[in-house]
Amino acid sequence: MSAAHRRPPFYLGIDLGGTNIKSGVVDELGRPLSSVSLETEAERGPEVGISNLAQAGKQAVAESGLSWNEITGVGLGSPGTMDLSRGMLLEPPNLAGWNQLPIRDLLAQKLDKQTVLQNDANAAAYGEYWAGAGRHTRSLVLFTLGTGIGCGIVDEGRIIEGRHSHGGECGHIIIQIENARQCSCGGYGHLEGYASATALVKRAVEALERDPAPSLLRKIPADDLTSRAIDEAADAGDPLARRLMRETARYLAVGAVCLMHTIDPDIVLFSGGMIAAGPSFLEDIRTDIRAMAFPTLAQKVRVEYAELGGDAGFIGAAGCARMAFGKSE
Ligand SMILES: [Zn+2]
Repeated sequence: MSAAHRRPPFYLGIDLGGTNIKSGVVDELGRPLSSVSLETEAERGPEVGISNLAQAGKQAVAESGLSWNEITGVGLGSPGTMDLSRGMLLEPPNLAGWNQLPIRDLLAQKLDKQTVLQNDANAAAYGEYWAGAGRHTRSLVLFTLGTGIGCGIVDEGRIIEGRHSHGGECGHIIIQIENARQCSCGGYGHLEGYASATALVKRAVEALERDPAPSLLRKIPADDLTSRAIDEAADAGDPLARRLMRETARYLAVGAVCLMHTIDPDIVLFSGGMIAAGPSFLEDIRTDIRAMAFPTLAQKVRVEYAELGGDAGFIGAAGCARMAFGKSE
């Protein structure tokens, strides 16, 4: 974007993941001016990790061509568990050893900028609301489909954080109570344990063991059996892969309908690696939603793929900084 088109004030968004940090400078209209990706090196501990966060932030500002003084504030999206009001990580399973960490204030000191902490999935939902597939809506639900299922809810411009920083943890809503699968969180019957990319692969492995019928999936070495490979086998007409993808769409529809009946949003969005499954997968989700939701909701709530991809997290985190610090401009 040319300098003339940038609309101040500017915010720095940083999206902390277990493997990578993504960061970027975002303008007043939610448009990224830069995008940087660095390794988190989470296993080296929080001190190195926070240095890497600061480094990713500084690189993003350098790449944007702005001066450090032009940055109004910083938004940090992080995996939980967390205490948002205190800016603390509590016991994040994806960041082993980062327990009871005042990450917001440590980063604020390191960067010498006012900083706000948000849950990563909430930040991604806010990014889509502000500048992505939900930009003309007033309320949305976002499911992020990856190794787990992240979820964020934005209603009338407000992120549903909950009273204890864990509102919108809808990857862990219960969709099965009998003979339920175990979720990565340890609970049973949670959506994530059925419909994440990891869960899809696990269900495929189990189905291959149980059912001796021929399948393209048998020809794939165990290490290469990914959600993408299952989707490709489904596209090639493999009956088992098709059934697995169809079931996954159904589980996601159950999750979406639970949220539709709770929030009644304008739009439900899906993002993450699994949306590579394309328009037919989305259409299957829509079909199942229509069969389960209140007729009014089935008719009126839009169901779409998200638009910002892997940038949603840092764009939304910058949006959180705008919400927290923008009014003083
Ligand atoms: Zn769970």
